[in-house]
Amino acid sequence: AAQDLKAYERRETITPDGHVMPLYVNTGLMIDVIRGAQRGAKGVGLYRSEIPFMLRERFPGEEEQRLIYRQQLSHFAGKPVVMRTLDIGADKDLPYFSIEEENAALGWRGIRFTLDHPEIFSAQMRAMLKASIGLNNLHILFPMITSVSEVEESLYLLDRSLHEVQEEEQVKINKPKVGVMIEVPSVLSIIDELSELVDFFSVGSNDLTQYLLAVDRNNPRVATLYNHYHPAVLRTLNQLVKRCRELDRPVSICGEMAGDPGTAALMMAMGFNALSMSSSNILKVRKALIQIPLTEAQELLAEVLKMDNPAVIRSWVEMFMINKG
Ligand code: PEP
Ligand code: MG
Repeated sequence: AAQDLKAYERRETITPDGHVMPLYVNTGLMIDVIRGAQRGAKGVGLYRSEIPFMLRERFPGEEEQRLIYRQQLSHFAGKPVVMRTLDIGADKDLPYFSIEEENAALGWRGIRFTLDHPEIFSAQMRAMLKASIGLNNLHILFPMITSVSEVEESLYLLDRSLHEVQEEEQVKINKPKVGVMIEVPSVLSIIDELSELVDFFSVGSNDLTQYLLAVDRNNPRVATLYNHYHPAVLRTLNQLVKRCRELDRPVSICGEMAGDPGTAALMMAMGFNALSMSSSNILKVRKALIQIPLTEAQELLAEVLKMDNPAVIRSWVEMFMINKG
């Protein structure tokens, strides 16, 4: 099967009726970047910047970070690289900075941690900005946003970092495009206000599913309830994409749903601008989408949005995918 998929490395992701669906790669280490580029990713849709932090014994300094980020950005020179600021807490633990909480998924994580540690946050953004000099492909993404003020504070710190780096380096740096992750349901209600502050949105369906369904993404006891085919997940995403279109803001998805050919087809039908996934899923998603006319995916979506049972929806979509080969 791997041999069979290899043939898709150099293909465009385009449906039989001519719809182009850009596929991006999720990265953390250089190996992900290398594999993503090999498999024809259009850029990096999510760089999980906490991964190099998790593999060290202490917080990496600004210069150490700059070198790490530079590698990611330069491998995809000329293509967008979306770097998410540090997203630790809950399922992402630093060995040298333990956060122990009763309810970690609802606790001190992502942007909540970095806004409480502006020195760590700013050093990271400065390192990203310095790494982008001469490349200009840096996009910055904020995780675990729940309110407008968090975005305003983050943008203030980004702006300040930008000015500092320009002063120090004596170069003009283009302001990176900035995005917000949609992974907490509260954001759905304030999307209009957020769209005035940022350039793009990226759905973190792993956490969004967890919070919409109140099901721990890592607890085996409730694993069968953690289901991306739940009508609440699908209908929420469908509404969201419609709203983002009206607001004229691109929206992509970087959770595991993008890497499942069935949900990828549904999200193409919803009108997502891009799908970002682990490098290991790129070829199988491309192979699937190349065989599905957009109009048929849209018909499938319309049927599925009327259904109420996650298990039935899943098997319905799976049957459709099998019929498409
Ligand atoms: C997500 O929540 O879907 C996501 C992409 O981020 P992470 O899996 O790193 O929490
Ligand atoms: Mg997340």
